[in-house]
Amino acid sequence: MTHKAVVVISGGMDSSVLLHFMRHQHPTYEIHGISFAYGQRHAKELDFAKLQCDQVGASWQPVMLPFIRDLFADSHSSLVTDDDVPEGHYAESNMKATVVPNRNMIMMAIAAGYAVSIKARILSTGVHAGDHFIYPDCRPEFFDLLDRAVYAGNQGFIDASFELKRPFIHKTKADIAEMGIKLGVDFSQTWSCYKGGDLHCGRCGTCVERIEAIQTAGARIQEGMSAKGQYVDPTMYEDPDFWKEALKRETVEK
Ligand SMILES: [Zn+2]
Repeated sequence: MTHKAVVVISGGMDSSVLLHFMRHQHPTYEIHGISFAYGQRHAKELDFAKLQCDQVGASWQPVMLPFIRDLFADSHSSLVTDDDVPEGHYAESNMKATVVPNRNMIMMAIAAGYAVSIKARILSTGVHAGDHFIYPDCRPEFFDLLDRAVYAGNQGFIDASFELKRPFIHKTKADIAEMGIKLGVDFSQTWSCYKGGDLHCGRCGTCVERIEAIQTAGARIQEGMSAKGQYVDPTMYEDPDFWKEALKRETVEK
């Protein structure tokens, strides 16, 4: 019997690396990608999510959640227009504007239902340590409880060895980027930017965080290698150098 795994994939860097990691760890598994859309901003990410699934031979299931926009529009400024997207380093408090309340609970509940219905052994998410600071529903304690809740809520229907895998939960974004480089993930075929331009803007919080992570990972890999082995981020950014300024600014503010 072929085992199945469901991977939550946004089309961003972390979940794309997760998808390739799962393929690497479970070469014989049937992998099913699932993506969530709750606003136009993510339409572009979805194309990349599908592309990544195609690359590893996974099926792909997009799920539209238009109600999130309607129901939660007033509770946080999470669904701001592109002009309002905060710039700078992700750790800055203004990045709280990108919080969608209870997002992970909603998405993971749907993903878990899908995993149970196709009798998957694994449900996997790319949540990582860098998310903990801003998003409470990305913290280890939340996922420990969710793991138990999914199991308790599906007793008798769920695969006995079912696991809610979150392999990056204690890893930094740089660790994930490093793993992605080693797994041969083409970052130019992932999408992180909060703005909907043709290229990554290089200035929004997710862009800055992404570039910093890839640069850190590239530098780590490069240690002990010749200059020829230098890793170059294949992503095109509108403003490729702003991240340095953003990091400097953050250091000063601390
Ligand atoms: Zn951006």
